[in-house]
Amino acid sequence: MKILVAVKRVVDYNIKVRIKADGSDVDIAGVKMGINPFDENAIEEALRLKEKGNASEVVVVSIGSAANQDVLRHTLAMGADRAILLETDVNVQPLGVAKLLKAMIEREQTKLIMLGKQAIDDDAGQAGQMLAALLDYPQGTFASTVQIEGDEIVVTREVDGGTETLALTLPAIITADLRLNEPRFVKLPNLMMARKKPIETINASEFGIDLKPRLNLLKVSEPPARKAGIKVGSVEELINKLRAHEGIQL
Ligand code: AMP
Repeated sequence: MKILVAVKRVVDYNIKVRIKADGSDVDIAGVKMGINPFDENAIEEALRLKEKGNASEVVVVSIGSAANQDVLRHTLAMGADRAILLETDVNVQPLGVAKLLKAMIEREQTKLIMLGKQAIDDDAGQAGQMLAALLDYPQGTFASTVQIEGDEIVVTREVDGGTETLALTLPAIITADLRLNEPRFVKLPNLMMARKKPIETINASEFGIDLKPRLNLLKVSEPPARKAGIKVGSVEELINKLRAHEGIQL
């Protein structure tokens, strides 16, 4: 069984993003970029399934500009077998991502498709769900454990007040949560070797898919600044302040 994993190139999760002066968007000029963290969990899990003998090949797809080659190389260094770049200048939104991934699934004939639970730049959490709807496949979102049992894949997901375990009939879509695993450390020699591996590049327009944005970004603004705190001299003072200002019964 082949596993297809979708990875997005996003602003590195350690970076505090700045907003453009005109408030039109986040300013990513010159900012460090990297693989979306949840997508790294998806790759890691796909590789573990392959190592357990549940899969024969792990194929990675990223949609975006030629710069996305760096995240694809990272996944090759982790151990992915093949990497495909669907190149486009369009800022593809989740519905466009889902449509392109559907086309790739039809081309690659994959039974298991793994995504991150959300991209940390748009925080949409939509592409996996939309893909499942377009294909009419079962979906296990926010997966914290994954196990293949015959023609089924058993997924544990964290829900309010506990966990839920689902058995999905393959083909199926899984979206990975951080708790799923701890992605392996990529060693320098593997990174060097991955530099030599080919990345198949396909112009996304070749699929004839309508990638027009459906959402219009109106404005981006900073969250309101937090008010400065105060220091109190004693527990009594703290209690008196809470009583006076918050109306708390102590
Ligand atoms: P989102 O719905 O935008 O929060 O993204 C959910 C997941 O869809 C991500 O974690 C990725 O696995 C996948 N995805 C989103 N955008 C892209 C992209 N440009 N290229 C490849 N995969 C993507």
